[in-house]
Amino acid sequence: MQIILVSRARKLPKTLDLANRRVRWKLLSMVTLAVLGCMSAGVVLALMVASPRDRALTEIRGLQQQIRQQDTQLSGVRQDAQRGLDALAVKLGQLQAQSTRLNALGERLAQVGKLDAGEFNFDQQPPVGGVEDVGGAAYALPSTLDSSINQLASQFDLQQAQLSALQSLLLDAKIESNLKPTGMPVPGYISSYFGVRPDPFDGHSARHTGIDIATPFGTAVHAVAEGMVTFAGVRSGYGNVIEIDHGNGYMTRYAHNSALEVHPGQHVQVGDVIAKAGSTGRSTGSHVHFEVWYDGRVVNPLAFARNHR
Ligand SMILES: [Zn+2]
Repeated sequence: MQIILVSRARKLPKTLDLANRRVRWKLLSMVTLAVLGCMSAGVVLALMVASPRDRALTEIRGLQQQIRQQDTQLSGVRQDAQRGLDALAVKLGQLQAQSTRLNALGERLAQVGKLDAGEFNFDQQPPVGGVEDVGGAAYALPSTLDSSINQLASQFDLQQAQLSALQSLLLDAKIESNLKPTGMPVPGYISSYFGVRPDPFDGHSARHTGIDIATPFGTAVHAVAEGMVTFAGVRSGYGNVIEIDHGNGYMTRYAHNSALEVHPGQHVQVGDVIAKAGSTGRSTGSHVHFEVWYDGRVVNPLAFARNHR
């Protein structure tokens, strides 16, 4: 078989002799190349047609990845928030416990101060035991916490007001106690007690209106309570004497002093030095004769002298 190729470019037609082995090979390879060329064009075309869908799929996969990441972040945030709320709940519980302790302290103070319990509500039980169990409903917690915190805040306000009132009452009580004769006017031992005793000078039975505290000559004599000096001078038998009015029915007298350190009308505080011990007046040796008067009557000073402030 012969194939005759006729071309305008060529003057002579080209003859392909299929019987020729070389020509057959040449032709076969040309046909193969043409088929291969068509196939690659098809593949490229197919790829060009399919690419928008692929791009969309890729985008979706990307979005899904992003969503997964955001979901992970969100659960992280949720965990953090929950941890924060848990920490707040613990803190709130601690504050409530503190409030309870404060109440107990207030109650004890009211008892110690012997104050009218009716004025204080310290026995009113505050809520205890921390916040309510909300059963893991993480988003119900904030409102519970909020109301608990508000409740606690008003509780603290109330307690603060009550404690200030209590404090001022206790301070008043302390001022009161400063006016009450308490303790010994000088260090020393009691050489003679209050009551009937043989008179140290004539041996007759006599009523001793105070206690005698033996103490070295010149020892500082202290006021046993706050008050106003009403007398500083010599009284018959008492020698150099100081008298202090404490303004609450109590009066104290300190006798036989060697020197007087205060003057009438002077205001003295607890522990102020008012005189120096001595043996003036009817006295057998250096001592302080100490008297306590209440509402115009002389009383046994021993109980006062043995008290401590
Ligand atoms: Zn005496």
